[in-house]
Amino acid sequence: MISSSMKPFVEGGSAIRALFEEGKKMAKVYGAENVYDFSVGNPGLKPPQEVYDAIDYINHELEPLLVYGYPSNAGYESTRQAVADDLNERFGDNFDMEGIVMTAGAGYAINIIMKCLLDPGDKVAVFAPYFVEYRSWARNFHADVVVVPPNVEGGFEPSAEGLRKVLDPSVKAVIICNPNNPTGAIYSRESLEAVAEVLREAEKEFNHPIYIISDEPYRELVYVDKEVVFLPDVYDDTIVAYSWSKSLSLPGVRIGYAAVPRKAEGYEELRDALVVAGRVLGANNASTIAELIVERAIKARADISYYERNAKELYEIVSGAGFECIIPQGAFYLWFKSPVENEYELVQAAKDERILIVPGSSFASPGWVRASFCISNETIRNSAEAFARLGKKYFG
Ligand code: PLP
Repeated sequence: MISSSMKPFVEGGSAIRALFEEGKKMAKVYGAENVYDFSVGNPGLKPPQEVYDAIDYINHELEPLLVYGYPSNAGYESTRQAVADDLNERFGDNFDMEGIVMTAGAGYAINIIMKCLLDPGDKVAVFAPYFVEYRSWARNFHADVVVVPPNVEGGFEPSAEGLRKVLDPSVKAVIICNPNNPTGAIYSRESLEAVAEVLREAEKEFNHPIYIISDEPYRELVYVDKEVVFLPDVYDDTIVAYSWSKSLSLPGVRIGYAAVPRKAEGYEELRDALVVAGRVLGANNASTIAELIVERAIKARADISYYERNAKELYEIVSGAGFECIIPQGAFYLWFKSPVENEYELVQAAKDERILIVPGSSFASPGWVRASFCISNETIRNSAEAFARLGKKYFG
């Protein structure tokens, strides 16, 4: 018999994963070219050449024990040093190699960060719409999320005022995902500074640190001329969770890191705890091969023009069909408003047209839907007629 704490996850499942599986089934029935699967953020873009070159080098030039043996729990020193150097070069001099812990993607980074920060009954504040797994992850540690309602009028920027209302002494962390999944928004410096100010006041009032967990798998995926604020710049008590899943198209390889800046409160204790957290949670270390790949490919970037074109064309197709869309500034998602209050109706009507989109309720934002545009450009262009028919149903 499975545990009672696991039951809700099994019964509830993940709407996104369910759609992904349904897409695969539909592709078998109708042919892959006749199904427009905008459900999962699985990059359709090939990893850059530097990744293939790194794999060749690792295969042919390195000692087998280095490639296949256990590294230290935090990861290879050379990889962590490469990450610290890269961060310092780009964002100011805040990182030591010791503050970097290599992980199996951002998901695992957030889990070890939560393991270090949360006691049972604690809370993590999140801004709706938010990535669905944050709640599951907080619950791994008998904690929960407290949700700041969506700031629709403010273009889905994180609302400092909304945050102030949900803070209490049980809130030990706040997660910010920028560029954002699911809205595609890049947050303004002004909003983030206001959030930081609210948190600094709350830290004083409650007499304990409140850390920002900066979830950054989309940091490099930007399509407009707007800065992606590096959160440790505006708030000292920030722990970065990074991933190469999207930026180098390596989601199956599972590689990312947690990074604590020297200036964060409790730096030394935190950095040591993060290493132990990976071990006690059973991962032990990130994949050695993956570490060696990203170390050699640290300056490599995805071909942004691929996503930029998809973003533009999908926006034109969906807004052209009559839907109210948020222009994607970064990440690879188009967020648009459902013309009917219950967006599940729209999701079903879209499915009838073989379009798979994710209900906003999955991100605590009913009335909206998300379409992931990391798929092939051909699929996007081919979906135009199906979207036009869907639009006709609602807008005539
Ligand atoms: N955070 C956000 C906002 C995501 O969209 C994802 C993946 O889609 C993750 C974290 C997890 O990424 P990873 O594959 O690095 O674990």
